Amino acid sequence: MNLGRFALYNPSRRDLLKAAILPAGSFSLRGAGRPPKRILIAGAGLAGLSAAYELVQAGHQVIVLDARGHPGGRVLTLRDSFADGQYAEAGAETFGQTHNFVQHYVQEFHLETMPAWNFGTLTSLVFRDGRRSGSGSDLSRKYVQPAVREIGDPLAPGWPSSDLLRQFDRISMSELLESRGASPEEIALLQITYSDSWDNGTAPDSALCLLRDEAIARKGASFRIRGGNDQLPKALASSLGARVHYRTTLLRIQQNSKQVTVTVNTSGRRSQISADYLICAIPFPVLRSIEVSPGFSEGKQRAIRELSYNSVTRVYVQSPTRPWIAEGLSGFAATDLPIGTVWDCAEGQPGVRGILECYTSGERARRLASLSEPQRVGTVVENLQKVFPGVSSEKAVSIAWDADPLVKGAFAWFKRDQMSTLLPHIARREGRVFFAGEHTSPWFGWMQGALESGNRAAHEVNDAK
Ligand SMILES: Cc1cc2nc3c(=O)[nH]c(=O)nc-3n(C[C@H](O)[C@H](O)[C@H](O)COP(=O)(O)OP(=O)(O)OC[C@H]3O[C@@H](n4cnc5c(N)ncnc54)[C@H](O)[C@@H]3O)c2cc1C
Repeated sequence: MNLGRFALYNPSRRDLLKAAILPAGSFSLRGAGRPPKRILIAGAGLAGLSAAYELVQAGHQVIVLDARGHPGGRVLTLRDSFADGQYAEAGAETFGQTHNFVQHYVQEFHLETMPAWNFGTLTSLVFRDGRRSGSGSDLSRKYVQPAVREIGDPLAPGWPSSDLLRQFDRISMSELLESRGASPEEIALLQITYSDSWDNGTAPDSALCLLRDEAIARKGASFRIRGGNDQLPKALASSLGARVHYRTTLLRIQQNSKQVTVTVNTSGRRSQISADYLICAIPFPVLRSIEVSPGFSEGKQRAIRELSYNSVTRVYVQSPTRPWIAEGLSGFAATDLPIGTVWDCAEGQPGVRGILECYTSGERARRLASLSEPQRVGTVVENLQKVFPGVSSEKAVSIAWDADPLVKGAFAWFKRDQMSTLLPHIARREGRVFFAGEHTSPWFGWMQGALESGNRAAHEVNDAK
């Protein structure tokens, strides 16, 4: 996730409505499903749920399976951990003005949004070598922003072109920056400025992967769903009613020319379900251990095996007041400390308290994840007080996404050359099995990607012969 750093845009309702214009042919499956098909969907995250929603509208028979006891997967609002009714997002947190699939469903279910990163005149910090330091904004303008413009609009159909892949996917971010004259010292400062998304280091990841994230995050304003993002998957799931089966884990996929059969475990009991088609909307690290017969194509197997996922660990510290505001600070800080990037994730919520969220990814996330919960919180609070001295911890909670057995990582994060070699295989159908999920979309790592992929898969199944 990219934080849309320093975005001070104040959106109006008109902007929202403008943004919700969808690409031609994206939706409108309504009534298209004649004769109705029997469709299984594994995964009740936004990808699986949106696919189910569209296919039900079309008149198909749909069953959704999820191993968890609730819908939403990586859209997870932490509601019981804090005082004053404040809440925090463990997974997806903000979305952009140009994220038309998110905006579409937000409007479909009459959810309210509020602006994110709405700092007004408050200052955001860069904290480096034990003190507040100058930001990397000038360097970003010199080296990163021109490259972001060069990669065009990642939300445009057909993106990325083979030219873009050749130019930007085969190299890492440090190679790109070096080739444009950045010194090692400048690259180090940029890495802190972009600490939320460049934390794997600038060497292993595809430059296109990082530039794409920047481009998606920075276009226009950002929003949150007022009251918590989990309202969106809950609304989708409740419209599907008893079609969604919880605590049901996919174990095996078997297909022949006539049907697909899945073996599932429902609260300790094994059973089989057959249908015309399956949409597999579960993360690839989990799919690695699911038995598939006959096996998928070579290209698909390689994509499932090799697709890289980023590590993210987040620690949330609720403070009795927001002392940073009195200092004229927004609460946002990009740091070189073990706490990564910090911001007030209860921004815009009522109450005098604030929740400082410490977002780490890559190596810092893995180091925090290796600690026990009390050690993790202790390390974070100690370091947080170096940046915001008046902050005290009333309640604290953490989440390490690598440790979630139903994802085993945070989101797809392509290493050098993987967008060129793996993307073409990730979303491609395998007989009666179709694929959805953020990792199958050019907008991976975003709710927009999950919803886009759900819609694409719904259309593919609807049209399948
Ligand atoms: C730390 C973090 C920060 C993020 N920040 C943002 C952000 O600010 N903005 C944004 O737009 N997006 C953000 N995202 C990304 C966003 O959350 C995801 O892109 C999106 O929610 C993925 O949806 P999905 O349906 O593809 O996958 P998931 O939500 O993971 O859904 C997959 C479902 O499959 C189920 N499942 C897994 N294995 C099995 C099995 N064997 N059998 C049955 N069910 C199974 C899981 O329980 C899960 O419910 C963030 C994600 C993370 C983790």
